[in-house]
Amino acid sequence: MDISSYQIDFEDAVRIIRKKRYKTIAVQLPEGLKRVALPIVDFLKKETAANVFVSADPCFGACDVLGSEFQGLDVEFVVHIGHTLIPDMKRLPIPTVFVNARSKSDVSVVIKKAIPLLEGKRIGLVSTAQHVHLIDEVQTLLRNHLLEPVVGRGDGRIAEKGQLLGCNFSAAAALVSKVDSFLFIGSGLFHPLGLMLSTKKPVVAADPDTNSVIKKELVDEKDRLLRQRFGAIARANDANTFGVLVGTKIGQQRMNLVLDVQKLLLSHGKQVLLVALEFFSPTNLQGFEGVDCFVSAACPRIALDDYLMYKTPILTPVELKILLKEQHWEDYVFDEILGH
Ligand code: SF4
Repeated sequence: MDISSYQIDFEDAVRIIRKKRYKTIAVQLPEGLKRVALPIVDFLKKETAANVFVSADPCFGACDVLGSEFQGLDVEFVVHIGHTLIPDMKRLPIPTVFVNARSKSDVSVVIKKAIPLLEGKRIGLVSTAQHVHLIDEVQTLLRNHLLEPVVGRGDGRIAEKGQLLGCNFSAAAALVSKVDSFLFIGSGLFHPLGLMLSTKKPVVAADPDTNSVIKKELVDEKDRLLRQRFGAIARANDANTFGVLVGTKIGQQRMNLVLDVQKLLLSHGKQVLLVALEFFSPTNLQGFEGVDCFVSAACPRIALDDYLMYKTPILTPVELKILLKEQHWEDYVFDEILGH
């Protein structure tokens, strides 16, 4: 199905729904695709004759799957759109198919612009779900320019070769000793910034949707982000009571980390409140008087993306270690949820 600038392939979803004779299904979409909920639901209804609910709750990743609240509506199957499966995530409450939304953009123009900025000959290629299907074509384009593209396989949290998640850079980490620099194909700053911090290699980011290429801007943005994170750690310097944020979404649960963070805080004489929640927002957290600092053991992006929305500082577990002098600031990296 062609939907605006995306190709969304519902073949598997329709086949499963028909085969299993599901009567009631739910569709889960990221914010950016809610505007096309109507044609998608119409299509699924026509093809399967099932009743279709669409979830209005925010959905930021494949870590966030519909659960018991939809079982109560007799939903037998979920069509989760816009993300790829996280293979490590085995226990899904309702059978779910992940349907990627693949960008239809032509990658050749932006790669021509990116090539002169690449450093060295051996280039690690990485991307996100929306553009990862373009990696083969990018490899050919780079080889035509006598470069040596390399694509890495991520860990058990990663579905596609060369794919990054905001919480997982393992497909790049696998290549660090084999490449001179990285080419990120995709949109936004978060992934290329995490890539730079995790690999310490030069990164060029090429966005096939806007045909923009950035390199120097990324370095500036990394410096700005590091200054901001240094400030967040400094603000927590006198904190005594820490709220440890425990994500209840299936793909964000990190109980071992929660216990490690709690143990570390207690060993430094700090007070700990374990705070479990599904959706993080300033409103949900503002009532916890007496908490001087939160540490997020849920989605790593909460502390980094939404920092300015919260009055109380939120640190990642990596930043907490720096605060408690268990790790050096020079070794700063993004928090990651690694798979098996
Ligand atoms: S934990 Fe955060 S970064 Fe990782 S998949 Fe979920 S929403 Fe994305």
